[in-house]
Amino acid sequence: MVATFACLVVVGCSRPAPPSMRARPNVVLVVIDTLRADHLGAYGYARARTARLDAFAARGTRFGLARSTSSWTLPSTASILTGRYPVDHGAERMTLKLNEKQLMLAEMLAAAGYDTAGFSANAAVVTPESGFAQGFDRFDVLARRGDQSGADPVWPSNEQKPDATADVVTDAALEWVASRPTTNGPYFLYVHYFDPHSTYSPPPAYAEAFGVRSGDPLRGPAQALVMMKKALAEHELATLRALYDAEIAFTDREIGRLLDGIGFGRRHDIIVVITSDHGEEFGEHGRMQHTKTLYEEVLRVPLLVGGADLPTGRVVEAPVSLVGVFPTIAELAGVEVPSGLPGRSFVPVLRGAEPAPAPVFAELSWGRVHRAAVVDGSWKLLLDQGFVPTLYDLATDAGETTPRNQNQAARTGALQKAIGEHNKAGFRARAAAPPVALALDAERRERLRQLGYVVD
Ligand SMILES: [Zn+2]
Repeated sequence: MVATFACLVVVGCSRPAPPSMRARPNVVLVVIDTLRADHLGAYGYARARTARLDAFAARGTRFGLARSTSSWTLPSTASILTGRYPVDHGAERMTLKLNEKQLMLAEMLAAAGYDTAGFSANAAVVTPESGFAQGFDRFDVLARRGDQSGADPVWPSNEQKPDATADVVTDAALEWVASRPTTNGPYFLYVHYFDPHSTYSPPPAYAEAFGVRSGDPLRGPAQALVMMKKALAEHELATLRALYDAEIAFTDREIGRLLDGIGFGRRHDIIVVITSDHGEEFGEHGRMQHTKTLYEEVLRVPLLVGGADLPTGRVVEAPVSLVGVFPTIAELAGVEVPSGLPGRSFVPVLRGAEPAPAPVFAELSWGRVHRAAVVDGSWKLLLDQGFVPTLYDLATDAGETTPRNQNQAARTGALQKAIGEHNKAGFRARAAAPPVALALDAERRERLRQLGYVVD
């Protein structure tokens, strides 16, 4: 009380933050769009050039079996930022936006005294129009730099991916951190990179480092046509994977620059969470890209958490869902975890506890596509159109090629019932903050169509 009074009367005295706020760490949430876990060195990929992400994983906790809640950006990113499954928050179609009543991560942290900023390179989906800016002091949807830096010159300008490259995202984030007024309060920074999302057009030096020569037609407009083919030749798949890996390598460099710029490793008041909204298909089940299925290649994402006083070098191999990110950040920030969330905070696990086994869910609902999935231990049930079940044992069949329904009727029935109960609970919760209709203008509809989304 005395110190506060002294501050009021002494010219030039800066007011100290309350002790509770000083103890709160800065929090940085990094989402790398379309990054499947098994294309990182930290997850065992031999061809990876992801030294910075691998080093970060070694300094914190790596969740070996993290799954997104859906296989495309809108529902899965909304789950990360609300802590709720898509069946609950309801942002499952491009014509629906998050309700203002949703308590979003940035809102919760802003109310606790955090400065908040978000920088999104996913200009089609992670936008204020879809409800993602709730709670941010500043939320910028970034665009590709005018000088086309980082672009592959073989692309005609009207065909090139218009989205901001990772260097633009890192620059914007670091400029905000550097220019932030000194309030003694902590900050929450959310950065959403987009490079690994198709079109795969990495900077030329990165494409060449992965063996894709400059005249390769897949480094130009032919890429889109090849991706639409029913069956791709092995050399086409290999080239597309190489270009995807090159995009990841470039993003890795820029995440390294972000970590250096915020002082990660030098300062002890920063916690960083790095994940992705979904993976990517390369023909494993006859498809390319994402948004269509709930197989492991689109659900398994990296989840890395490190910084402050958290233990280093930890690996957690129990299945977890990204709905746990919200309560985890709440607890790390010293904020009361809101009630009614489906996921538990990972903080005890980060500090050494074994995670309690719990099923994780995923869902997909747009157009005529209605799919759900549940993973319980090594068993996974996929449910098509609400009633067609396919059971897999991931312990013996990681590629999900051999359905096991026949010998496992009781298990199939139990997992189907679990999905039914999960859906019921989600719909009940949805009533409190249902998604809101969103009118899309012609330009946005066209952009979404180009990205492979169905606007329904
Ligand atoms: Zn995405």
